[in-house]
Amino acid sequence: MSGKPMKILVVGGGPAGLFFSIIAKRALPTATVHLREQNPQGVTYGWGVAFTESAADTLRPAAPDVIDALTTNTRHDRMVISLDGVDVPVQVGRSHLNARWSLLAILEKFALAAGVHITHDCDTVVTEDNMADWDLVIGADGVHSRTRERFANHFQPSVELGDNWLAWYGTPKPYPPSIILRNSEYGVLMVHASRFSAEMSNFTVEVGQETFDRLGFAGMSEDESRERCEQLFANSLDGAPLRSDHSPWFQTKFVSCARWTHQNLVLIGDALHTVHPSIGSGTRFAMRDAVYLTQALVGAEWDVEVGLKEFERVRKPVADAFQAAAKRSIAWYEGLPSRTITHPTKFALEYLMRTGRVSYRDFRRENREVVLGYERDLR
Ligand SMILES: Cc1cc2nc3c(=O)[nH]c(=O)nc-3n(C[C@H](O)[C@H](O)[C@H](O)COP(=O)(O)OP(=O)(O)OC[C@H]3O[C@@H](n4cnc5c(N)ncnc54)[C@H](O)[C@@H]3O)c2cc1C
Repeated sequence: MSGKPMKILVVGGGPAGLFFSIIAKRALPTATVHLREQNPQGVTYGWGVAFTESAADTLRPAAPDVIDALTTNTRHDRMVISLDGVDVPVQVGRSHLNARWSLLAILEKFALAAGVHITHDCDTVVTEDNMADWDLVIGADGVHSRTRERFANHFQPSVELGDNWLAWYGTPKPYPPSIILRNSEYGVLMVHASRFSAEMSNFTVEVGQETFDRLGFAGMSEDESRERCEQLFANSLDGAPLRSDHSPWFQTKFVSCARWTHQNLVLIGDALHTVHPSIGSGTRFAMRDAVYLTQALVGAEWDVEVGLKEFERVRKPVADAFQAAAKRSIAWYEGLPSRTITHPTKFALEYLMRTGRVSYRDFRRENREVVLGYERDLR
């Protein structure tokens, strides 16, 4: 590292960009770290995001105070898997939930305290010319990253569109973490719901293409779709409304990049690679990139070229394994519309084992009564 203070530009104030800014500035207090976010302060997309306890434990050593602040809100140890109105409650690892806007506000508070300069309302375009003004440029601009697309020839991204359609709503009904599946005359309807604050729960509706077409969602406004979903899930919602916060239908993008860096530019978080909402780990995945990147730079004594190479070398195999688990989850969800599922416990078992990270033995140990009931049914 030269004698001059290092200048770092971070594009995007999501979990990846903010967490990187905090831990990098703490690791190298002489650096100037500028983070630019296109949205005004307090404006973001989505509702609540979950962190498992194990995700929090892996992130905690990098910034214990930050992770403690993110794990004091809503927590759950059980979830409910529901098939056509029959609920199977199961014991799962603990998870912590925060409204996405409060998660970002917490991260931003720590970033400012660390001395990071944050500019909102600042749509930032990275070019080869302006990259030269910085020692290090971090593209943390999310799944639709324009930084990735601008240098697509170099990063060689692969972006696969999911088959299913999702709409991310909120509702005041307090749901435990739930997977709700309904076999309807239109096909299979799925919901991921979970309380993330004293007032609100997530309510993400997921349907296959045929169901999407049969229900005519493509021709509906956001409000019409929301009202239709309220009707379709009226039995579960018990009269509670669905709320939208820019909640259009979307197909998930599964992103990976052949190359992770270009000169002094590196991508992290969803800009670089995604998982899938169904495994609820995108935030942790993005923040882990920030940890690996900072560790690699510290190890390289802030030699950017060496540090970026090391980041890719160490992080890639771990990230690839996690993406492979996400792919198994996506395949399971996308396979649901073409299947007939009739046994609630079998559905619960399949759901929990879908990524290959939970075995039948693990599930049986944690949920003895549920499994014994299922095994009796099979006899
Ligand atoms: C329906 C749904 C449910 C989810 N549930 C969960 C969950 O329960 N748990 C979980 O861990 N994850 C969940 N996720 C995933 C999670 O939201 C993302 O993986 C995570 O936010 C990625 O963080 P990031 O910082 O990489 O990107 P983002 O959070 O998308 O942040 C990128 C930021 O960059 C800004 N930006 C973009 N372009 C520019 C530009 N040109 N200039 C300046 N700023 C720019 C954007 O405004 C944004 O603030 C869910 C996602 C969806 C869609």
